[in-house]
Order: sequence, then structure tokens, then C-alpha cells
Amino acid sequence: MVGRSRSFGETGGVCVSHGTIATGNLMKLHPVLLSALYLGLAGCEPASPPPSAPAAGESSVTALIGATLIDGTGAAPLADAVVLIDGTDITAAGTLADVAVPEGARMVDVAGKWLTPGLIDAHVHFMESGRIYTKPGQIDLTHLVPYDEEVAWMQQRVPVTLTSYMCAGVTGAVSVGGPRFEYEVREQARARPNAPDVYVAHGPVTLVPAEILFPPFDGDMSVRSVTDAASATETIRQGVEWKADLVKTGYLGGPFAEHEADYAAVHEAIVAESAVHGLPVTSHVTELTPARALVELGVDSLQHLPLDAPLDQAFLDLAKARGVVVAPTLAVWKRNFLDIYDRSFDLLPIEERCGDPEVIASWYEVDDLPTPPPEVMEMYGAGITVAAANTRLLLDAGVPLAAGSDTGNLGLLHGPSLHYELKLMADAGVPPADLIVAATLNAAKIAGQAHRVGSIEPGKQADLLVLDADPLADIGNLQTIDQVMKSGVLFDSATLRPPGG
Ligand SMILES: [Zn+2]
Repeated sequence: MVGRSRSFGETGGVCVSHGTIATGNLMKLHPVLLSALYLGLAGCEPASPPPSAPAAGESSVTALIGATLIDGTGAAPLADAVVLIDGTDITAAGTLADVAVPEGARMVDVAGKWLTPGLIDAHVHFMESGRIYTKPGQIDLTHLVPYDEEVAWMQQRVPVTLTSYMCAGVTGAVSVGGPRFEYEVREQARARPNAPDVYVAHGPVTLVPAEILFPPFDGDMSVRSVTDAASATETIRQGVEWKADLVKTGYLGGPFAEHEADYAAVHEAIVAESAVHGLPVTSHVTELTPARALVELGVDSLQHLPLDAPLDQAFLDLAKARGVVVAPTLAVWKRNFLDIYDRSFDLLPIEERCGDPEVIASWYEVDDLPTPPPEVMEMYGAGITVAAANTRLLLDAGVPLAAGSDTGNLGLLHGPSLHYELKLMADAGVPPADLIVAATLNAAKIAGQAHRVGSIEPGKQADLLVLDADPLADIGNLQTIDQVMKSGVLFDSATLRPPGG
């Protein structure tokens, strides 16, 4: 019989922040653009070492037995499933009748539970903390907290930030560009057992001059500005040197359109050079005409959605034919552009539990925020309605969707706010089965990692969630996390809370 076994507990992984925060100056910016942070070391040791190797005669295999398996591919759920894990990888997944459990395997009874792949956020920025001080371009509070102080806060806060991801069941995060700090967070994550995999996009590569978008981040720029096809090719080569996982580009439009006349030629060069190095290209776009052009030029995925018009059939057909994955990023429009000003957040339970409490506290630290004029707020409100409708059009057309929170922007929490994005996508009409694929395999596709993560299949990395309730009945049940397995190591969710969370 299957016995209940202990999970590899991770205790004391709590990294307490040191340093105080200052309030200072921040910059401003266009909604979705970027965020950044720069590295930082935080004196925080991994709580407990990874499990030791099995003794002689003992199997190295862990068997999760009895749950309903939702594998992330969109396949029908499988009751009474068995998943075998050996080392960091999944070696088998199927029914008890199909999968032979090796003698001596460590048996974990998960009967009555649900298994899904670990979640992957397709759009984050570590260069933005989510704190009220993190985007001086939008809300300038640099007289309270200078931007350099906010940067320093982000740098020392990385261990807590990474813990929040694991707490929320997010075992992968796609950084869509920023300063070198994004790469440094990746290194810190790799050094910790209780951290998500971080995939870093080189970029954002843009024709818009960096200095009008973001202030310098610890001496580095937060975008990779180019002037023509040759310099675009050059920056992709730089990203290859830095071991980028993908490339982020974009057409910003709006007030920046005057800089972007040559975006087609630049994107042609970017797509060509990225292909040489096997790097997928993901692009920011919020207008229909450039969205169509970017897809025609060969980008692999889109971040955000056209907000200026309903998607037409020609675009939908093209996107589907090209297999372009689209991450609508609905959460950022609502939280960053509307809710932040009157603090009307409808935080999910998992955001309260797993979000960084210091980030949440910051939203209430300043009484009088400079609020955009009513007509601008109305424009944002209208944009959200269009985004939701366009999300539904993509779904109905069969264009693959990915879940990306754009976390780091104001009002969003590293880790758990992916669940808020899923809530808004559900409200837009996306069914739970599609949402699970959006937050797992399709997000992995954006990062070019679908061969390695994003589903529970033999040969994949063993990143998965053990849930108390059925996420196919209600996507909110993805929040009922009992245990999180990352690279074959099982953590009880109670050990993954951020300090004070
Ligand atoms: Zn973004």
C-alpha cells in the first residue's frame, strides 16, 4: 500500500531583508514597457540542502500516487495517476495500470489531490518591484525615495522575491528584458533550490532612446536602444554573449512613434540574427497595424494586445497560421493604470499570502498620488475592455494564449499576481483548461523552453504542483497549493512563505 511520506521540508528559508527603504525618485514610462533591477546579493542561505543521494539498494525514484493528473498539454485529466521522478526529471506519467513503480521508490500518497505543472509567468520584470516608488516615469515620488534607493532595495530583496514565486507555485519566470540585473537574478535563482527558473530576454531592443524611457539602473540602461539594422544585429550578439534565453523587442507607438519609423527593417534584422542563435523573439505591441507587421516579420510571440481596435479576421488567421503565442497581460492595465491610484485592489488570497508584504505596504504609504486626468483614466478603462474582448477573439480563433502578469509594475506582486492574470483571463471568457495551458506549456514556448518545462511528461524537468482542489472546476483552485515540486525537490507550501507573509 502506498504510505504517506514526508516531503523534503525546507525550513528557515526565510531571508530577512536588511536595509531600509527610502523613498525617492522614480521615472516614468509607458505601461508595459519595462522594469528593472540589478543584482544584488542577499545574505540569505538556502534553507535546507537538497535531498541527499539514496543509500545503496534504495531507489532514487519518487512516486506521486493517486492524484488526478492535469499534464499541461491540454489533454483530458487522468484519474488515479502515477508520476515517477528520478533526480530532477519526470521519468513516467500515467495510470497505475500503465506505470510500474520501482521497488524501493519513495512513495508519496497524493490521493484526492490534483497535479499540474509548475506555473510559468510569461512576462515579468525584476527591475521593477511593484512598490509605489518603482516607476518614477509614471508616478514620480523620487522626492521621497530616490530611484537609486529603490534600485538598492530591489537588489537586496531578491531572495524574498524568489520565495514569493515558489509560494505561489510559479516555478518559472520569463524576464522580458531590462538591465544586467535581470541576468543577475537568474544567477541567484540558479543558486537556490527554492527558487523558480528565470529565463531572461535580451532587450527590450527598441528604436526609442533609452534615456527617455527609464533612468539608469545601477549604471546600466534598462532597454537596449538601437538606431538601425546593424546596431540591432549587434545588440543581439551581445545578448548571445550574456547567454540570453530569448529576445524582447517592441513597437511602443503612442508618444514614442516618432522614433520608430524604421521598426520593420530593425525587426527584420533582429529576427534573422536571433534565428542564427536559436533565440525566440517576443515583442511588445499595443496597436493592430504594427502587431500584424511584427507577426509577418516573424516574431514568435506577442506581449500585450492591440488596444486600439478589435482584432480582425486577417490578423487572427495570420497569428494562427504562424503559431504565434499571445500573452494578453490584462492584469497590468487594471492594477498599474487604474487601481493603484485609489488602492482599489481586489487582492486574491494567494496574493495576500505569498506577496511581499513590504511591497503591499508601500501602496498605502503616500496619501496624495499624482493621478492622471479623468480622460486618461477613462482611456485606460476603455483599453481594458478592448483587451478582454480581443483575448476572447484570440481564444475563439485558436491562437495560443500565454499567461503573463507584467509583474513589477505598480500594484502587482512578484509570484502570486500570475493568479490575478488568470482570474482576469477567466473573466474574459477563457476556460480553466485553456488557462492551465496558458500558464504552463504556452508560457514555456515563449521562452523557448517547451522541450524542458511546462508539462508533466517523461523527460521534462520535475516542476509540479500538488493541489487540494480541482483547477478545471475553477481556475481559482490553482491557489490551493499543498506542495510544490521544483526540479524534483518537494516543498511543503507552508515552508515557502515570504517573511511577514
Ligand atoms: Zn512588461
